[in-house]
Amino acid sequence: MKRKIIFCSLGFCLLFILSLYLPIPKQKLNPAPLLSLRILDRENILLREVLSDEGGRCRWVKFEEVSAGLVKATIAAEDRRFFRHRGISFPAIARAILQNLKSGHIVSGASTISQQLIRNIYFFRRNIFSKTVEAWLAIRLENTLSKKDILEQYLNRICYGNQAYGIEAAAQLYFDKSAESLSLAESAFLAGIPRSPSILNPYSALHLSVHRQQLILHQMYDLGFVDPVKLNRSLNEELKIIPHSTKFRAPHFCDFILSRYSSKERQKMSSIQTTCDYSLQRKVEMLVKNHVRALKDKGITNASAVVLDNFSGEILSMVGSKDFFASQDDGQVNGTLSLRQPGSALKPFTYGLALEKGMTAAEIIDDSPVQYSTPEGAYRPRNYDKKFHGPVRLRTALACSYNVPAVRVLESLGPEALYYQLKDMGFNSLSQGPGYYGVGLTLGNGEVTLLELVQAYSSLARAGEWLESTAILQVYDSENTPKFNQRLQKTHKVFSAQVTYILTNILSDQDARIPSFGYNSSLSLPFPCAVKTGTSKDFRDNWTIGYTPNYTVGVWVGNFDSQPMLNVSGVTGCGPLFRDIMQTLAKNTPSQDFDKIEGLIEVDICPLSGLLAGKNCPGYMTEIFIPGTEPKTKCSSHGQDQIQHPSESKAGQKDFQTMDLIIEFPRNGDIFKIDPILRHGYQKLRFIASAPEGFPFDKLEWWINGKKEPETDTPFSYSWKLQPGLYTITLLVRSESRVTKSHPVSIRVLE
Ligand SMILES: [Zn+2]
Repeated sequence: MKRKIIFCSLGFCLLFILSLYLPIPKQKLNPAPLLSLRILDRENILLREVLSDEGGRCRWVKFEEVSAGLVKATIAAEDRRFFRHRGISFPAIARAILQNLKSGHIVSGASTISQQLIRNIYFFRRNIFSKTVEAWLAIRLENTLSKKDILEQYLNRICYGNQAYGIEAAAQLYFDKSAESLSLAESAFLAGIPRSPSILNPYSALHLSVHRQQLILHQMYDLGFVDPVKLNRSLNEELKIIPHSTKFRAPHFCDFILSRYSSKERQKMSSIQTTCDYSLQRKVEMLVKNHVRALKDKGITNASAVVLDNFSGEILSMVGSKDFFASQDDGQVNGTLSLRQPGSALKPFTYGLALEKGMTAAEIIDDSPVQYSTPEGAYRPRNYDKKFHGPVRLRTALACSYNVPAVRVLESLGPEALYYQLKDMGFNSLSQGPGYYGVGLTLGNGEVTLLELVQAYSSLARAGEWLESTAILQVYDSENTPKFNQRLQKTHKVFSAQVTYILTNILSDQDARIPSFGYNSSLSLPFPCAVKTGTSKDFRDNWTIGYTPNYTVGVWVGNFDSQPMLNVSGVTGCGPLFRDIMQTLAKNTPSQDFDKIEGLIEVDICPLSGLLAGKNCPGYMTEIFIPGTEPKTKCSSHGQDQIQHPSESKAGQKDFQTMDLIIEFPRNGDIFKIDPILRHGYQKLRFIASAPEGFPFDKLEWWINGKKEPETDTPFSYSWKLQPGLYTITLLVRSESRVTKSHPVSIRVLE
């Protein structure tokens, strides 16, 4: 019987001893659930820190990335025999029992760093039984990890107050420093907090935490960790504790990033380096805010903007609303991702298809009343200015955004052609079939997002190569190892380089859009920029999207509750905001001209018929064509006697050096419109001509439609009153020896 008991006891002891060598399960030591997720801009500026599932801020660092002073200070403060015990410290327990007996209640826990770490991992209730299990686990921990690894776990898990878990988060929070670069004084300060993070909170009881810091510095001296000189210096070092602040930058963009990952995926990440350029983002946010304020009396409460890098497809800036925190105007709605009707903003893609199919920029399209039968009844497209403009060239129709020609062109292509083209260009929001939208698709009856529009326009800047936009540069896993898990950006050809060049040429043609937008519209920029506006039905949405070779910018203004604005067009609504963003971008990267594309030809055409310019046409203009599509026939619609050319009236005299004498303004093919509001007498056009230095002249004569205009004092410019009609302008220079004539310039003035 006795032997049995002895055997049993021995067996039990053996089992117990063996149990001490059971390793602590690996997943218990896994940092994942603790980590907060840091969202960074492209230069690693912190945009937002998403707290861990346990509500904390934590960034795991390696033992080597913690300052040696902090390690020593922690040992001095918490467990001076750390390197000598195997998980539990008997002298410490003895001392604790003695202290507790003396005072009659528990004053000292006598926990080693290993025990504290166990408590941190297992979350026990505190009683005698749990103390025993804790000690047992602490010994197992010592048998599982090296002393260095135990310290790494401890320093990364322990709470330093104010939701900061781990020394890196604490160093960042209180000193805006990394754990590696802490001074000795700062190390002692932080090492003191975990004892009681709520009482020793630097933000509410700084004197207490400083008092404890001084105590720890003295203990470090007692332990021989510091010499007297260092001790003195650290005792007197001024601590620069930074005020508590939570970073909440680029809010819509950060939400957009977070929405791409499940919470399970997020747990495995420590940080995401995004494509956002925070310095640009701040400027765009400010511009959006200021412009919405300026548009207040037009019934506008919100705006959104996106900036895309054309080369990489990276989203540099995303501003979802005027103010994320404006609750009454739905500030948290991200307008760049909201479904909205794009108005005319899809027209370039309709014309792009037409150009692919062999139409040309000189094609004459009929802008006259037309009717389509649809399931909802007769559909009669109308122009924005409520007028019809007769036969117009494709260039003018697109640049002036006339509706009827766009519908006519789409009708000839078939509406499904545009539908599939748009799908190919990433407009995933078009959720219905092509039959649902019909020809109205080109006028924007389908709902799309600003981000989709910007992505699609960017392909025009990329010579027809569509590139999926991206928002992420790098993802770091829980060990801070870069893990680029971003799938490759999709890319494919959507238009030929020639077609995109022609579209870009039209959209950046400031003169071509004058009939609709006037001379100095907000769309005129001092550098090449292709741009298109859009306004949805009843003035609910207002868009401006455009690009330079480097950037594509998209802007929307309107109201999230779809309240109509007060008579706002793309030019007055978001045009100025678009222009300011483009100019901000141009300050950083000087804008160049769009790259010329090989294999296009230039042909002089009659600006009115779009055919090859004939001798009797009212001048000519140069248009670009894909070889094979250029007009082959000469214009025959202009009779012999219509225009009398000045040179012909002076038969026998020779013209030469015509190229040197140039009419700079107006330009050939320009169309002007008489403003119905301004007084007619004030509406004048100033012709401007130039000639090389030393060009011989005695007299200058401006000829319009074969008639000489009265002479002026300013020979190289001439002010002419606008009146409706077609005009051919020529400048004639007479000197003693010869008569020189400029190329004629033909313009059209609309009523
Ligand atoms: Zn002609």
